[in-house]
Amino acid sequence: MSIAAPDIPATARLQLSGDALVANWRALNRFSGAASAGAAVKADAYGLGALPVVQKLLDAGCQDFFVANWQEAREIEAIAAGKASISVLNGVREEDMAFAVKSSAKPVLNSIEQILRWSTTSLPCDVMINSGMNRLGINPGDLGHGCIANLDIDLAMSHLASADEDCKQNTDQLAKYLSALIDLQYKRSSFANSAGIMLGTDYHFDVTRPGLSLYGGKPRPELADQIQQVATPQAQILQVRHVRPGDKIGYNAKYIADRDLRIAILAMGYADGYLRGFSNKGCFLADGGKLRVIGRVSMDLTAIDLTQAPKLEEGDWVDCDYDLPEASRISGLSQYELITGLGQRLPRIWQ
Ligand SMILES: *Cc1c(COP(=O)(O)O)cnc(C)c1O
Repeated sequence: MSIAAPDIPATARLQLSGDALVANWRALNRFSGAASAGAAVKADAYGLGALPVVQKLLDAGCQDFFVANWQEAREIEAIAAGKASISVLNGVREEDMAFAVKSSAKPVLNSIEQILRWSTTSLPCDVMINSGMNRLGINPGDLGHGCIANLDIDLAMSHLASADEDCKQNTDQLAKYLSALIDLQYKRSSFANSAGIMLGTDYHFDVTRPGLSLYGGKPRPELADQIQQVATPQAQILQVRHVRPGDKIGYNAKYIADRDLRIAILAMGYADGYLRGFSNKGCFLADGGKLRVIGRVSMDLTAIDLTQAPKLEEGDWVDCDYDLPEASRISGLSQYELITGLGQRLPRIWQ
């Protein structure tokens, strides 16, 4: 006779909105004009969970997914194979070949070495052109290499380095990419990430590749009112306490009360991805009040001031104020780091 193990409900979680995710993809697809928006779902869909994200975007009509490596490709192939195209941005190594030739995903070939390796198959691929970021990609001058003519290229892509800024590098990269495409045989072109979509029609080509903005990030001001928050960390109150003027709170006494305060200790800390940059700066939300973080964020715990939500008690839940542009400004971390760094300890709860 077996007795089911009792459930142990989490003390902190990540609340995720499927409606916001899909609304963001639809908005980015609309801003992409005649191009269709794909989705960058690398790094486990920026930490939110690749499988649920891909499923929701497939249902919404997304046709192109971009992952970093073959492990990630294998994970999403389980639901996307035969329904959408999957591109592996980091290319293909010798040690990937055994899996890659059987996979429905395509490598994004980044170097002559990778092209020679893939030429032994006659399978489709994508190609990344280095238009000036000097990260991954084939230099335009090498595109005349004889081995390229034999490839079955779906997406001929390049990637913008500074699309979140208005600068000459964007137009320089566009010009280089356009001229590299002239002598290349390919099916579809693809250039813009989230920020690049907002640079206008010239940057759209056939397929766009938003990532950050699908998940609530706003890398350009034009996106401010167009993109919805997707991810909200939530934490339970483990203890409520009263402190007196002069009482010191948390490690190294980085906050000293200047009056009587009712405070709560939350089950959330830097091990959950709520990093020390929020010490004395971050904010939680409950009952219409803003509850400021006081003192230093610990590994598993954070203290907040309950002045604006006096009814809260031990066991109640609060939302973390995790609007990405604002949280980025406060913490000094990029919006990308804030979303991809959320800890695996937080169960992902989709609504
Ligand atoms: C990550 C990535 C994207 C998505 O970029 P965002 O800035 O998150 O929209 C697009 N293309 C490539 C090649 C990438 O590596």
